[in-house]
Amino acid sequence: MSDIKTGSRASYYIDLEDQFGAHNYHPIPVVLSRGDGVFLWDVDGKRYFDFLSAYSSVNQGHCHTKIIAALVEQSAKLTLTSRAFYNDKLGIYEEFMTKLFGYDKLLPMNTGVEGVETALKLARRWAYDKKGVPDGKAKIIVCNGNFHGRTINVISFSADPESNNRFGPYTPGYEIIPYNDTVALQKAVQDKNTAAFLVEPIQGEAGVVIPDEGYIRTCFSICKENNVLFIADEIQTGLGRTGAMLACQHENVRPDIVILGKALSGGTIPVSAVLADDEIMLTIKPGEHGSTYGGNPLACSVAMAAMQVLINEKLAENAEHLGIILGSFLQKMKAEFPFITTVRGKGLFHAIVIHPADKCSAWDVCMQLMKNGLLAKPTHSDIIRLAPPLIITEDQLSECMAIIEKSLSEVHR
Ligand code: PLP
Repeated sequence: MSDIKTGSRASYYIDLEDQFGAHNYHPIPVVLSRGDGVFLWDVDGKRYFDFLSAYSSVNQGHCHTKIIAALVEQSAKLTLTSRAFYNDKLGIYEEFMTKLFGYDKLLPMNTGVEGVETALKLARRWAYDKKGVPDGKAKIIVCNGNFHGRTINVISFSADPESNNRFGPYTPGYEIIPYNDTVALQKAVQDKNTAAFLVEPIQGEAGVVIPDEGYIRTCFSICKENNVLFIADEIQTGLGRTGAMLACQHENVRPDIVILGKALSGGTIPVSAVLADDEIMLTIKPGEHGSTYGGNPLACSVAMAAMQVLINEKLAENAEHLGIILGSFLQKMKAEFPFITTVRGKGLFHAIVIHPADKCSAWDVCMQLMKNGLLAKPTHSDIIRLAPPLIITEDQLSECMAIIEKSLSEVHR
């Protein structure tokens, strides 16, 4: 089901990717060439509301003028020194971020998965140096349904066959427990070699799976009682998306290690970061970890501008306010359309779950949304994630809800 005509401009670009690019993604057939705020335009000039936000990277909206200004200004001055030398932006950025989030130190990386790898290395090193776990024996507990990225190490503890099938041999040292199960965590931490528990406060890629209220708080307490580090992967849930700067803040939890990425650069360049206190961060010594581009002055300038936009424009607050409106609208949709089995969400991070046996799939719904001017992407075959840029206004959201309602009724006519 595609409207792309053979010989059209869109088909030209799609064919190029198909012929010369690896086939490791299955995009919705739309070719985008411009973005501004909550809007994207395709190569034929058709306008869409963005309801994916590049997997929550564009929380501040596309091409935010303040972030682009920082990017342009810094890119004309100095972009990369490597960490072989100091630069005049990294320290300022580190001070800004650690004060903002209340941690002793920041370790800068680029992509989200590099941030995850960094947190895992920190946890293992902390276990050996501080907890007294015998070298090579550290265990890290993760959750079923997790998504933390795509490196060999990280897919080693994924339970999703699409992520890790036939990419073995896998890295040892992980135990997978059910998500939203504090009893399982209590049992798993009894192993004295446990270094850390790595968790997404809301599982994004699994389909915006929200644990019971109190889950994060209880997991944190279990970790504290058993001298186990609590690591929050806030790459997708962080930076305003769920209605708070960090999703863990909803339960007043201050993780031992926080991983940030995606919206840290407002959708411009890859910037990720790990936050922790000295007891953990200083276990890694010079030469033991790093990245050529990590902490480059361009990334630091862009990240500070991106964070400033989140704060100044009160985007977490906007997400919280509009999230309530979107949530009650989706409840109404569930009551109206029996093929919707579940709706769930927090802030501007929501999902519609379609009955798996229904004649139309999540893909079909997304295609109809696209026709009607709204871009969303299925996660798995039956879930549609709804995550607009956090700058969206109430009027724009009303327009989007009308498109969603129209599309749902059209797929089932
Ligand atoms: N962790 C979470 C929770 C994510 O959602 C993602 C990406 O979707 C990652 C890690 C990996 O980030 P990246 O694709 O930038 O490596």
